[in-house]
Amino acid sequence: MASIPILLLILLVGSLYSVEVNGGGGGGTVELVSTVAEQRVFDYFALALQWPPTYCSKSTKCCSQSACCRGANSPSVFTIHGLWPDYNDGSWPSCCSGSAFDEVEISTLFGALEQYWPTLSCSKSSTCHGKKGLFWAHEVEKHGTCASSVTGEEYNYFLTTINLYFTYNVTEVLFEAGYVPSNSEKYPAGGISSAIENAFHTTPQLICLNGALEEVRLCFNKDFTVRECVAKSDCPDYVSLPEFASLELNGGTTTADRSFSYHESS
Ligand code: 5GP
Repeated sequence: MASIPILLLILLVGSLYSVEVNGGGGGGTVELVSTVAEQRVFDYFALALQWPPTYCSKSTKCCSQSACCRGANSPSVFTIHGLWPDYNDGSWPSCCSGSAFDEVEISTLFGALEQYWPTLSCSKSSTCHGKKGLFWAHEVEKHGTCASSVTGEEYNYFLTTINLYFTYNVTEVLFEAGYVPSNSEKYPAGGISSAIENAFHTTPQLICLNGALEEVRLCFNKDFTVRECVAKSDCPDYVSLPEFASLELNGGTTTADRSFSYHESS
């Protein structure tokens, strides 16, 4: 008789997922473990796009996997960070039940993913199954599994995200509005926000790192019509949109130089 509660317990523990709460901006997260029985239906999507020169300015080493290290071919457009299911209270589910990432399933998308959804990090990313893996594995396991009721599973999660990325071309909108990469200019964050608002009829969430624009997040209802994000921007009044060329690494090595001196991460 005692075997039934034990079986139930095993099933519950086996289907743990997490809810994360953000203190604001891109800052520290608190992870609350919950069970599938308590999993709420998510409310909306955030499409997170990153500005590679800002992210890459954090790097201290180069490796072949990182798009920061492609020299002249390093991305000079916003690239995809992820498509995240979110709750209206500012928290979000993560690591929901679903299959582990399988590279084979998305092999036909590799070209597009390498170009528009590259990893900018040399470190391997954590997956939901206690392993380290590709940035894509991290994103689909942590966020994609919680979105599958709308997007479908792995292949469709990536395809949906790429399609949204092309439909809402933030790079084009900003460049056309005169917000072009520069290592000397500072732009009003309000102007950047307005340019996106005029084009897409929603206010973006802007995330900054040391006064430089690092991410633009656009939010969508579950039918992929635009909506406002819940989390607020964390940028100062004036922000930079840095170019790759003059990013300094290890006391003067530029990103262009880095592509000729790969050092694999451990
Ligand atoms: P998140 O949970 O915010 O979706 O994923 C961020 C995690 O993925 C971080 O732990 C980071 O180390 C890893 N990661 C790997 N490549 C990238 C990248 O290109 N951009 C960002 N933002 N995170 C990356």
